[in-house]
Amino acid sequence: MESNFIDYVKIYCRSGRGGRGSAHLHRAKYQPKGGPDGGNGGRGGHVILRGNRNYWTLLHLRYDRHIRAGHGGNGSKCKSTGRKGEDRYIDVPCGTVVYNADTGAYICDVTDHGQEVILLHGGRGGLGNFNFATPTNQAPRYAQPGEPMQELAVILELKLLADVGLVGFPNAGKSTLVNAMSSAKPKIGNYPFTTLEPSLGIVPYRDGRSFVIADIPGIIEGASEGRGLGLRFLRHIERNSLLLFMVPADTDDIRKEYEILLNELRQFNPELLDKGRILAITKCDLLGMDDELIDMLKENLPTDLPVVFISAVAQQGLQQLKDLLWQEMNSESNKIASINTIDTVVHRDKDFSHLSEYIDDDDEGWGDDYPADDDDIEYIDEEDFEDLEDFEYED
Ligand code: GDP
Ligand code: MG
Repeated sequence: MESNFIDYVKIYCRSGRGGRGSAHLHRAKYQPKGGPDGGNGGRGGHVILRGNRNYWTLLHLRYDRHIRAGHGGNGSKCKSTGRKGEDRYIDVPCGTVVYNADTGAYICDVTDHGQEVILLHGGRGGLGNFNFATPTNQAPRYAQPGEPMQELAVILELKLLADVGLVGFPNAGKSTLVNAMSSAKPKIGNYPFTTLEPSLGIVPYRDGRSFVIADIPGIIEGASEGRGLGLRFLRHIERNSLLLFMVPADTDDIRKEYEILLNELRQFNPELLDKGRILAITKCDLLGMDDELIDMLKENLPTDLPVVFISAVAQQGLQQLKDLLWQEMNSESNKIASINTIDTVVHRDKDFSHLSEYIDDDDEGWGDDYPADDDDIEYIDEEDFEDLEDFEYED
């Protein structure tokens, strides 16, 4: 199935190599011996990940899979330092997790707007020959090469950082609720929707505050065993701080349906059950908001979580639901639960082998090669790079 919601993408990154130091010897009429005046090489460009709240998918990366930072310029005469290679930024949605594509090793999380993580460092520039002049060797004819570039293929995984994840079977009323409660739909709403696309809504609360709810469809029986698309979408609620279970009022056995949903989550990832939970009985207009009917329903409800009766269509119970969500979202126990979850759920390596069909990749791989280094100057030994430690580099 073609999907416009890109939640895994594989990209190929390369930092810039450091510029060579120059081995230039100064020559002037009245200074026949001259002196070493070869400048330092410039540093190569970094590849930097940057959180950007204007993005809600990884779709934009699909068209720019090869991220190459600029090489540092070579040093030159008159102690002139080579120019710095251009840094390359990769803008990603907040809630992006980065893995090494070859090993599956966890690299980092980008969670905040403006957060920057240097994924690959540019090579440091080599020192020019003037750094190596000593009383016994006043005109060294060598300089350091720049440090090499680095390459890395990474898989980016998007986890939406919603505050509330909706959990319910198809037709539970999830999409209707997102529409009824939210003032704005983040950018993802601009892409053609299928009913299998997660949908996010921003819910305005009091005093200009707001929270994000995510409708994660596709939770069907067996989804946690990898059947259907449920597995793929279930991931998006791993980090939600709160889960809102939704069961329609006209369901035969509400408690049983709730337990099936709970079991799906447990099989997918038991840690999901550490999150705060609320149960909404939806479509209560079908009961005519009849107190007697509601009382009858109440007799067979789960007792381990708060329950609220709502109707998105009749706009009933929605303020009460918002209050409850806000209250639970901000309760200390849920905050702690979600922090723990981030530590334990996210910081682990991942086996991508069974997910390959979901990973957006192309055939190009690393693409064409960069030209080899020139070797028109004499390089000193690699171990002499240790000298670089004492040298102050520009960032
Ligand atoms: P989802 O699959 O969970 O996203 O469910 P939808 O939001 O698409 O709703 C499924 C069906 O239930 C649609 O026909 C909706 O019109 C209907 N529905 C949703 N909310 C309500 C409600 O509050 N009252 C009534 N009577 N019908 C509703
Ligand atoms: Mg829906």
